[in-house]
Amino acid sequence: MGQYEPVIGLEIHAELLTESKMFCGCRVVDSVESPPNRAVCPVCLGMPGMLPVINERAVSFALRVGLALNCEIQEHNIFARKSYFYPDLPKAYQISQYELPLARNGYLDIVLESGETRRIRIRRVHMEEDTGKLTHMEGGGSLVDYNRSGVPLLEIVSEPDIHSGEEARVYASKIRQILRYLGVNSGDMEKGVFRVEPNISLRPVGSKDFGTRTELKNLNSFRSLADGADYEIARQAAILDAGEAVVQETRGWHDVRRVTFSQRVKEEADDYRYFSEPDLPALEISQAWIDVIKTGLPELPDSKVARYKEVYALSDYDARVLAEDRQVAEWYDTAVSGGGDPKWIANWVINELFRLMNEHGQLIDEIEVTPVELVALSKLVENQTINNNTAKEVLSEMFTTGKAAAEIVEARGLAQISDEAALRGIVTQVLRDNEDQVAVYRSGERQQKLHGWFVGQVMRATRGKANPALVNQMLSEQLAGSDEPT
Ligand SMILES: [Zn+2]
Repeated sequence: MGQYEPVIGLEIHAELLTESKMFCGCRVVDSVESPPNRAVCPVCLGMPGMLPVINERAVSFALRVGLALNCEIQEHNIFARKSYFYPDLPKAYQISQYELPLARNGYLDIVLESGETRRIRIRRVHMEEDTGKLTHMEGGGSLVDYNRSGVPLLEIVSEPDIHSGEEARVYASKIRQILRYLGVNSGDMEKGVFRVEPNISLRPVGSKDFGTRTELKNLNSFRSLADGADYEIARQAAILDAGEAVVQETRGWHDVRRVTFSQRVKEEADDYRYFSEPDLPALEISQAWIDVIKTGLPELPDSKVARYKEVYALSDYDARVLAEDRQVAEWYDTAVSGGGDPKWIANWVINELFRLMNEHGQLIDEIEVTPVELVALSKLVENQTINNNTAKEVLSEMFTTGKAAAEIVEARGLAQISDEAALRGIVTQVLRDNEDQVAVYRSGERQQKLHGWFVGQVMRATRGKANPALVNQMLSEQLAGSDEPT
């Protein structure tokens, strides 16, 4: 492998989360759950003579993506017809963008597992419409569902700046994270609303020319993307080592056998006969519109991570875990701006709240615990009303009942005993009840072990509610005294 450099470019197709389709008023429905061919009309069924109308929301979503990926926005946009026939494309052309895409010359910085940062250039982001969906039947024949026909689709094309399966995985998952942050795509790869297709070639190290490339399809997870790309790199290297030539083709990924297989050999470049879509006017995007979209962009993951580290002094790991999902990050932000200690809250969200969410199979926007109530819980620990262990118990109950922390502490009598007089009485009683152990302690034997044992006895007598710091201090004082406990 040493003598070859892998060169990978990625094409990502992402359906936009609009209410209606790209060029008609049909609803965008779940392609798996909805009965087939319900959300269709003459426009998206490709009937002759029907006129498309551009979905403004889809354009604004595409603009968000272009700006978030640091692209130049094209003010003068032209839609183009990409002509080809396939049963899932009834009008025999797809409305897309060709020479003048909405956005281009962007980039995305990714951080690899080694900690190295790499900049991946983005060649273009353009708008188009999705096709219908074919289901091939076991006994022959195929079924077609046009619910997906005309759904707004974004194509994001990278430059061939990626050099391994891992880089491809990190880049694609970061694009997905950003689209989710922007609220324009659900990122569900199983349902095919986020699709990744790498093209892969090898060239001798130091060469500027590109080798013959293959395209990979049917990747329904990031793991498959990384494994498929690495498999293809190894397969091509073996072919070149044997002195043979790589065939330019489209290959599928077999998810069970973990291998790629030939799907379609491309003798020459496809000829789609692109030309300007005559039924749509040029789409002019004003600077004012771009400014509005720019102002409305949410804080993106990289900025959040940087802020958590700089302002809240969180570790890189904690900052990334919290910023991974926008809903989690916003929940955390609300708690901190509501007066929570940034580190305490981070710790409790990552360790306790995530554990409870896992146990109950809930996402952060489904849970009963509010940011304000987690802050309230933190204050009960801070002012020593309850200790950490009790706080965990209280949080579990908050999680299942939605009750306020203070209410649970009150109702279950969980407030810790910090009253010195009351606690001193209990400590004295424990020592009095265990005179033999006190004698051993005072003889100088096993003092550390016995001290811990006495703490345990006091905790048992108070059902875990004693303030541990006070108990330690009182035990030390009373055990050090040579007088009999009074
Ligand atoms: Zn329609």
